[in-house]
Amino acid sequence: MTGTNWRWCPQCASELSPVTRDEDGGPKERLRCTNCDFTHWNNPTPVLAAIVECADRDGQVLLARNAAWAGRMFALITGFMEAGETPEEGIAREVLEETGLAVDAVELVGVWDFQRMNQVIIAYHVVAHGEIRLSPELAEYKLFAPGDIVCWPGGTGYAMAKWLRGRGIEPRFMTQEQRAALAAARPDAS
Ligand SMILES: [Zn+2]
Repeated sequence: MTGTNWRWCPQCASELSPVTRDEDGGPKERLRCTNCDFTHWNNPTPVLAAIVECADRDGQVLLARNAAWAGRMFALITGFMEAGETPEEGIAREVLEETGLAVDAVELVGVWDFQRMNQVIIAYHVVAHGEIRLSPELAEYKLFAPGDIVCWPGGTGYAMAKWLRGRGIEPRFMTQEQRAALAAARPDAS
């Protein structure tokens, strides 16, 4: 889990230590500051995700490969919310920033936990159009007919599966072997 390795208090720079205290749900050990009483709650971070349907490309879905990833995984467009925006504004902004596409419509697909990253995924179906210009964060994209998409068995993959079912397509999930092969594949191989 991320966020459990904090060492210093962000308020007073004293060292944090695991301290058990009575909370509403009973005794709970958390990283706390014994100097200024700061508590590191370690709450999950909301992450916005978009299934991007390209209205001007026969309804194909754009999936993209993050430049920081070693393998050949293509995924939804994701990003963090900015202060002062709604989730709907946030996902429209992320899609524009990361793909260059203008967003016409945003509809909630659902909310999923992603405990390995201590995140909560808020997934949207986004209808978008325009010229695709990837941000440097993304190495490449692929357009998929919805029926050709194979879902990752976790996190955003569950969002994709629900969206496909809503369109009358029974989702297919990747096997562990397929996942391992994609994660190990060289990005310049095809
Ligand atoms: Zn402190």
